[in-house]
Amino acid sequence: MATVKKRFIAGAICPRCSKLDTIMMFNEDGTDIRECIACDFTDKMDFKPIQREIETRVNVTEEEKKQKDAVQVIKFPSS
Ligand SMILES: [Zn+2]
Repeated sequence: MATVKKRFIAGAICPRCSKLDTIMMFNEDGTDIRECIACDFTDKMDFKPIQREIETRVNVTEEEKKQKDAVQVIKFPSS
């Protein structure tokens, strides 16, 4: 089974227990799923939420950081 990345949705309120910042989102078989950690509420999301774009951008930035670090090691070797 593939690794499922879960992330909190900032400012999201659970529709069942009405708690703030308890909603996590992850992707399962191409479907975005919301999950509340407080009451085990789950909800499938068929549309593409804005959060997914942000998640992709963060992943790209982390990759760029790794590449920059690698370049720095090559450019500035310790003497
Ligand atoms: Zn809940």
